[in-house]
Amino acid sequence: MGKRKSKRKPVKKLKAELDKQFNCLFCNHEKSIECKIDHQNKVGHLSCKVCDVSWQCPITYLDEAVDVYSAWIDACENVNKDRGSSRRARGDEEEEQEEGYESRPRPAATYDDEEDDDDY
Ligand SMILES: [Zn+2]
Repeated sequence: MGKRKSKRKPVKKLKAELDKQFNCLFCNHEKSIECKIDHQNKVGHLSCKVCDVSWQCPITYLDEAVDVYSAWIDACENVNKDRGSSRRARGDEEEEQEEGYESRPRPAATYDDEEDDDDY
């Protein structure tokens, strides 16, 4: 008892690129989803090369591409539950999100619940 294993995953930089590609929930293509992590703005962004679906979410500095992806899965499931199966999950919302993201260089005011000015 009392022995604590520190949970620490080894960082393999070689494989990092591959791990940023995931299967798309909308068009079901494999590895068509590309995740981008913007640690500066604390935004995780993913988009599909095939069906062009895109999504973003607030992240913390601990989050990685796979976290954004799993958050996307959760969000899609929630949307489907909310709107029922008769209606498609993506629509106007998606365009709005992307537009806002592209036109605004710094979405600083969007998600700022975490105040940490000192970086280390
Ligand atoms: Zn797709």
